[in-house]
Amino acid sequence: MAVTGALDELVTANRILAREGVVDAFGHVSIRHPEYPDRYVLSRARAPECIDVEDLMTFTLDGAPIEPARRHPYAERHIHGAIYEARPEIQAVVHNHSPSVIPFGITGTQLRPVMHMCASMGSRVPLWDSRTAFGDTNLLVTNMAMARDLAATLGNHPVALMRGHGCVVAGSSLRDVVFNAVYLELNADLQMKARSLGEITFLSEREVEAVLNTRSSFTYERAWEYWCRRAGRPYDRQPVGGPLVDKI
Ligand SMILES: [Zn+2]
Repeated sequence: MAVTGALDELVTANRILAREGVVDAFGHVSIRHPEYPDRYVLSRARAPECIDVEDLMTFTLDGAPIEPARRHPYAERHIHGAIYEARPEIQAVVHNHSPSVIPFGITGTQLRPVMHMCASMGSRVPLWDSRTAFGDTNLLVTNMAMARDLAATLGNHPVALMRGHGCVVAGSSLRDVVFNAVYLELNADLQMKARSLGEITFLSEREVEAVLNTRSSFTYERAWEYWCRRAGRPYDRQPVGGPLVDKI
């Protein structure tokens, strides 16, 4: 995709995540730069609902802005660079304080898939606690040392929880990462509701694998078009092929 189209899609991703309640005034989504894989594109520090193309900035993986530093970047941009640095296959990253996800980072209760649409999160979601390596901080990931530590906990998983803070979601495309972030919030909400009714039967590891192995890019397109409509953004159809590389 041309750079211009990719930037428009990144604006759309910001608006969708805001519309679907995954981010509020805080939280952010980035893409690996389409032409320079050692850079990423992320908005200046602004609420995702308000972001437009002019707000987007390009950074090196260690978080330095490419442009003259006239604009105020997100303090937690390092999260994105550290994940792109550790995971060459990752093309898009979301960091959020998704409200229903937070309780699972502070209680020891595992967040696990309860519904087939939520299988993208994987069977096991690792938890990163900033206190383990960095002691008592303000919990913000404001340097590469913390971000690399978080990326190490994420490992090869698509999602990691951040104790007392939020989570990160990493994906093979912008559509993939937005899909996973939206359904992660839904899964967390459903899991809490189900728990109040009784014992939960979670998706098995093999069911999770079966969902991901049979999901085609059409699933992501159908969701993306729907979310574009709800967010008041134009829908740019992508070619629909076989299963996406979403087995991460
Ligand atoms: Zn944060």
